[in-house]
Amino acid sequence: MVSEKRCTRMPSVHLGVGFVAGVPRGSFVGRRSAACPSPATCQRSPRAAWLVAALRVAVVGGGPAGACAAEALAKCPGIETYLFERKMDNAKPCGGAIPLCMVDEFRLPPEIIDRKVRRMLMVSPSGREVPVGKTLKPNEYIGMTRREILDAYLRDRAVELGAQPVHALVQDIQLPQRGTDGKYVIQYADYEQTVAGKGAVSRLEVDMVIGADGANSRVAKAIDAGDYNFAIAFQERIKLPEDKMRFYEDLAEMYVGDDVSPDFYAWVFPKYDHVGVGTGTVIDRPHIKKYQQGIRDRAAEKIRGGRVIKVEAHPIPEHPRPRRVVDRVALVGDAAGYVTKCSGEGIYFAAKSGRMCGEAIVRACQGGARLPTERDLMELYLRPYDRQYGPTYTVLDWLQKIFYTSDAAREAFCELCGDDYVQKVTFDSYLYKTVTTVNPVEDVKLLFRTVGSLMRGNALAP
Ligand SMILES: Cc1cc2nc3c(=O)[nH]c(=O)nc-3n(C[C@H](O)[C@H](O)[C@H](O)COP(=O)(O)OP(=O)(O)OC[C@H]3O[C@@H](n4cnc5c(N)ncnc54)[C@H](O)[C@@H]3O)c2cc1C
Repeated sequence: MVSEKRCTRMPSVHLGVGFVAGVPRGSFVGRRSAACPSPATCQRSPRAAWLVAALRVAVVGGGPAGACAAEALAKCPGIETYLFERKMDNAKPCGGAIPLCMVDEFRLPPEIIDRKVRRMLMVSPSGREVPVGKTLKPNEYIGMTRREILDAYLRDRAVELGAQPVHALVQDIQLPQRGTDGKYVIQYADYEQTVAGKGAVSRLEVDMVIGADGANSRVAKAIDAGDYNFAIAFQERIKLPEDKMRFYEDLAEMYVGDDVSPDFYAWVFPKYDHVGVGTGTVIDRPHIKKYQQGIRDRAAEKIRGGRVIKVEAHPIPEHPRPRRVVDRVALVGDAAGYVTKCSGEGIYFAAKSGRMCGEAIVRACQGGARLPTERDLMELYLRPYDRQYGPTYTVLDWLQKIFYTSDAAREAFCELCGDDYVQKVTFDSYLYKTVTTVNPVEDVKLLFRTVGSLMRGNALAP
């Protein structure tokens, strides 16, 4: 059971559970406002947080989505933030590639980035290697991270700002009657208090819930958010001999072909002291290991002598859930379904959606004096998110449909990736998260080059 909240700050989530409960419950009428006009100006003072009867928000899941939501909430003195995470040292199965804009936007220190990738090789079904990255400026790169490091950093930051870490598995969420001011009851197995080796079952009443608990989200189930189709992604972390690792110093590889995935790509991504070798598929999930063998075979020479240090697999959502906001519950990150097609990118979108959702609650609650509504969440979080990133999802969905469906199309895709204009547009879109159209004349030329490549692809495909 979480105990009474004090003004003590937790220095690190790894030290254990925070303090809660016993805070006066009550309606929102007459609740004291800590006057918190915007997230930017709303700096938390722990003492003020203790004095104010706060809006209680539970964030379920301490990955990038949950940590960034909790950080935004914790900056507001009128909000009490509880960050539930079942495994504080979780190493999420992930390629760990992040775009450059995330480093600045989320103020990530250099030590979070294991490697700066400035060169890529696209490897076609026939084995043609197309170098990508020549249009990058000297200061531009793709950041490679280990998730256990990135997630812990983001979580610790939220905790330092005042979020209460709760090391626990959330088991159930009881909902109040819809449209009322009633509380949500979070039931969880508290791993800081074990009974017969199991987490003691505890409960916490809150006013709002952010579901940041990933692809198998219990929060999504609780609010009947609806299902999404998903890919299974499989990855092996392989420690390479020094000379082989040198090859991947600042280089990542993407492989396409029916042998490595019928509808996605396979990768070799460099990490701190190893490479992540993996693949994914939606349409042939039961045979994922066959495709993993495919990428191992294709990269065999480059990873020879390597030792597998970890094998991991996890679902990747294919599209957003039918309902991402229900009453005073909002889903963010993978729980909402924010991974792009074609690239399978989700870390940035998780962090960004978590932050946008947290800031929306801060804006709507007026320093804790007002209980935000479903409409607030729709207008301040969901619509702005869809407006900002909808085009990116749409374009990448098209690209996947056009280029990942046959080996002939994949050959064409690789050929196009060699084009300077394509590289510039692709990298600008990926690194800075904008769908860019640089030059309409070049766009028309590109259309013709695409048709030509598709025709040649038929001849080249194995
Ligand atoms: C193999 C693979 C490779 C990938 N490669 C990349 C890549 O290179 N780049 C990229 O951008 N994206 C990649 N992705 C996608 C990326 O991993 C996700 O989009 C991202 O992790 C989503 O973050 P999140 O915070 O929403 O969810 P998660 O990272 O899944 O975090 C959810 C957190 O919630 C916790 N949790 C879950 N249930 C509960 C519960 N009931 N109670 C308490 N805690 C709970 C979990 O322990 C976890 O820490 C990859 C995915 C896979 C599977």
